[in-house]
Amino acid sequence: MSDHQFDTAQVHAGFDPAANADSVTPVIYSNAAFWLENSQRGHDVANGDVPGFLYSRVSNPTVSFLEKRIAELDGAKEAVAVASGMAAITYALLNTAEGGGRIIAPYDVYGGTFDSLRTLLPQFGVTTSFVENINDLDHIESLIEQGSDGEGGTDVKVIFAESVSNPTTVVTDVEALAELAHRHGIPLVIDNTLPTPYLYRPLEHGADIVVYSTTKALSGHGNAIGGVVTSGDSFDWANGRYPQFTAPEYILGEAAGREPRSFVEAAGPLAFIRRLRLKYLRLTGAVLGPFEAYLQLIGLETLTERVSKETASAGKVAAYLAGQRHVTAVNYAGLPGGAQSELVATNYPNGIGSVLSFELEGGPEQTAAFINQVKLFRYLANIGDARSLIVDPVNTTHREFTKEARAIVGVGPTTIRLSIGLENPDDLIADLSQAFDAVYGE
Ligand SMILES: *Cc1c(COP(=O)(O)O)cnc(C)c1O
Repeated sequence: MSDHQFDTAQVHAGFDPAANADSVTPVIYSNAAFWLENSQRGHDVANGDVPGFLYSRVSNPTVSFLEKRIAELDGAKEAVAVASGMAAITYALLNTAEGGGRIIAPYDVYGGTFDSLRTLLPQFGVTTSFVENINDLDHIESLIEQGSDGEGGTDVKVIFAESVSNPTTVVTDVEALAELAHRHGIPLVIDNTLPTPYLYRPLEHGADIVVYSTTKALSGHGNAIGGVVTSGDSFDWANGRYPQFTAPEYILGEAAGREPRSFVEAAGPLAFIRRLRLKYLRLTGAVLGPFEAYLQLIGLETLTERVSKETASAGKVAAYLAGQRHVTAVNYAGLPGGAQSELVATNYPNGIGSVLSFELEGGPEQTAAFINQVKLFRYLANIGDARSLIVDPVNTTHREFTKEARAIVGVGPTTIRLSIGLENPDDLIADLSQAFDAVYGE
């Protein structure tokens, strides 16, 4: 990070009032394309020799403010913002594993990610080896060494995991996983949506690439869909496993008609993030609009205030639930004394975030009755909102999971997920309490 603290950067980084008509709030540039002034400047901007914008499918000033701000908050060298978290994940995984590669990922990933890894990416020749426990390093190492033919190979192109999983909040030991990945010349991509860069910065723990759904706690108001990919600069993309980064490209020629260059030649360790913009964003076009970027910039300004309050309240709600007679389990790694409390204490000094889940006594009828009974919690499939949310993952967020996968990730008919918002936690607990009374007849 630069010379500013996190909470200072969240309201200033990436935006210069002097270059934007003295506006101190980020400006919305609602342009499709930008004036190039004269042929020399047009040539220089197109070549990337001077700063400037050409066309908003590739980059846009408002989107660029957001990219710079998130890059700084994440301790990243560069970021690319896209239209959704799923676009960020798809681009990051294809940019590494395209051309028939294999991904190693745990079962407990976001529902859309699971469906994509299991049913869609294989249609493009990209397969996934799912693991039950992402912290079982010996098993992961054996998968890398076996290769898909079982006889050794180099087809594993990327390891993907969520820093904190949803809805059971399993914490990935990023440092250990990164060390293993790097020993084999493989990058580690982390979906850090749940903690946000305020609670955890995976690049500082050895991850190479980080993806976010900015729809969630990063922007924090449930009012815009977006995603971002951030990159560090320590992975060697020319290590022989990734020919796409060393192939000559005419778009990277130093001038029109001149010798093509590869992404590694043009950008060195930033080859991944530059290629993601110029190949995936430019050619498949999941572009973030300037208005959504603006909403996310405004949301980001209160990130630390929102997430610290929501995390403190989530701890209170989890402790309350743990003491309830009709709750058979509480999944929140932030509770003291849990199986991962040591990892949490060293990696998450400010907590793990606002999402938790629990198991109700009974069956689907009790789950439905509980959801119908709460008054303050809103029943909807989102997380990281300023309002508290409740959902039954089996019927909503985890529909695409196979029965076997659901059993592995611990999502069943009595699982309820909560995302804690900014309300007073006593009101939230009172709401849950009246729901228990109504459902179990006390
Ligand atoms: C919501 C979410 C996504 C997908 O993001 P969208 O913005 O909805 O496309 C990916 N990963 C995690 C952990 C999420 O919570």
